Amino acid sequence: MLVTTKEMLLSAQSGCYAVGAFNVENLEFVMAVVAAAEERRSPVILQTTPGTVRYASLDYFLALARVAAERASVPVAMHLDHGGSFDLCLQAIRAGYTSVMIDGSHEPFEENVAITAAVARAGRAAGVPVEAELGRVGGKEDDGPDAGGENPFTDPDEAAEFVERTGCTSLAVGVGTAHGVYKGTPHVEQGILREIRRRVDVPLVLHGTSGVPDSQVREAIAGGVCKVNYATELRQAFTEGCMAHLAAHPCTFDPKSYAAGGMAAVREVVASHMDNLGCAGRA
Ligand SMILES: [Zn+2]
Repeated sequence: MLVTTKEMLLSAQSGCYAVGAFNVENLEFVMAVVAAAEERRSPVILQTTPGTVRYASLDYFLALARVAAERASVPVAMHLDHGGSFDLCLQAIRAGYTSVMIDGSHEPFEENVAITAAVARAGRAAGVPVEAELGRVGGKEDDGPDAGGENPFTDPDEAAEFVERTGCTSLAVGVGTAHGVYKGTPHVEQGILREIRRRVDVPLVLHGTSGVPDSQVREAIAGGVCKVNYATELRQAFTEGCMAHLAAHPCTFDPKSYAAGGMAAVREVVASHMDNLGCAGRA
């Protein structure tokens, strides 16, 4: 059965590690990510963006996640990543997602507070944890708006007021990371992160982590991050794995055959992140 992210993140917070949240794009991603979690004895969060939800539907992905969770001997949660509206978050909660994010970070502060508080209230009623975002993660998540170079960090004082007023159960912070592929070397503003941690007691979430050096991620976890998101790296790994298989076996026409190459690559990337995040062995 799918579990919520609440216990997962609170355990991570008290144990000073982070749980990996991995964006899944299809059946093969779900199988590969959960296989890595089993192999590493790690709790795991599967998540889908609104773009992925539009590609298939909440129900399709939820059905995949449910089957995976029923078979798994480790805790599995299903999370809506970057929910862009109250309606989509409510649809996900009603469908059976066990965690949602409302991303009002593109709105002015007061509007972000209002929409987040509304979703958090609904989440509380349904027993579903609600992640929110304050400040901005750079780049472009999925087909969402492109934050481009605009990348204001989360203000620690605003973060405290935001969590207090909204009742969100975890908070994604803008501390220098960006979605997509980094052009330069990413740099996590660890000082700002620690200031936020001093003022906010809910688990903190790091987005845009694909390509961030493992050492910076570990330092961020020491600074209060309890959930770390990976999307881009998995997409790259899957595609490269499929292409490598096709290059080596040009006569292949069975999708199961080349998808195995993609799945093996995703599994390897996920397992390696679980080791770095410290969630391996925590199931
Ligand atoms: Zn994100």
